[in-house]
Amino acid sequence: MILPKAEKFTDEQFNEVLGILSEFGCSLTPIPGTTRTIYAIRGDERHELMINRLEGLSYVWKVDTIQSQYKLMDVKSELGNRSIRMAGKTLGKELLVIAGQCTIDPKNPNYFMETAHAVKEAGADAIRGGVWKPRTSPHAYQGDSKAIEILMNASNEYSIPVSTEVMDETQLRIAIEAGCHMIQIGARNALNYALLKKVGELTAGKNIHILLKRSMHMGPIDEFICAAEYIVAGGNPDVLLCPRGTVPTVDGYRNHPDESITPLLKQKTWAPVIIDPSHSMGKSIYVPHAALAGISYGADGLCIETHISPKNGIGDDPKQAITPDTLADVIKDAKEIYNMQSKYQNYLPKAASALN
Ligand code: PEP
Ligand code: MN
Repeated sequence: MILPKAEKFTDEQFNEVLGILSEFGCSLTPIPGTTRTIYAIRGDERHELMINRLEGLSYVWKVDTIQSQYKLMDVKSELGNRSIRMAGKTLGKELLVIAGQCTIDPKNPNYFMETAHAVKEAGADAIRGGVWKPRTSPHAYQGDSKAIEILMNASNEYSIPVSTEVMDETQLRIAIEAGCHMIQIGARNALNYALLKKVGELTAGKNIHILLKRSMHMGPIDEFICAAEYIVAGGNPDVLLCPRGTVPTVDGYRNHPDESITPLLKQKTWAPVIIDPSHSMGKSIYVPHAALAGISYGADGLCIETHISPKNGIGDDPKQAITPDTLADVIKDAKEIYNMQSKYQNYLPKAASALN
């Protein structure tokens, strides 16, 4: 990773740096941050001569060669010195809540509009709404591009950012074009490296946040962090990590609840952690407990499926969505727990260095 002395390299400086890197088989990707752009070296950056030549350039402040599989996502990376803001909130300082329907029903747009209004009133900061859906059965409802209009209407009507999942490049381009504020990469695509790269590239510098869910098939925590590394290396550092349950399931729940990996993620990376209790538990009756547990574990926010009338929803909503009234209670209590546990946030890095 190369840190310039100024906010960013001029074109001439960029080309000079790239010239040196290409002699050693490496390339360069700019990663625009809030106050300055840093540059990721792609390829094997361990050539001593290459590093010496880069450090000799008058406009280079530092060359950081963190030796981990995820050097950009690493807690020690320069990217950790930035704050990520969404919906007027600074992540890590204030609780962020994303709530709304699993699936937008294009035949009943009023449900989504009412849900969006109600979750905003309940205290949510952003609205989620599935336009395209990854369904186990190809015969189940797959989503409909027309629903993006309903999503953006809700965003405009209630002045609130919106999040939706994309599964391929076409959907990604439609969501960006429509003005979505957050793009979800769901559990099924969290290991789709080609898509992760594209997401990073096409959302770079556009102030679009990426909510990366943990694949239900991911084992080691590093596998999850490396998936996020693809997006950041593609050019977008505004990635939020979302544990949402894994397999094998705990009998009775939809998945194996994994809110407990939050402290581990916080120890290893700077990325905010957003818990999705709806998919980890799979039944609305268990969602409040898992949501509050996630915040107790130190998460920065929640993504909760909520519907104005769950029994009239489609997709996961009839079984998983909580009502806006329950959401209001969860947000109130989550804020209290969030404030209570914040003193342990400092404890964590100290404990980490004691272990190392
Ligand atoms: C969803 O958010 O509705 C969804 C399908 O999520 P996941 O990728 O976690 O299954
Ligand atoms: Mn869902």
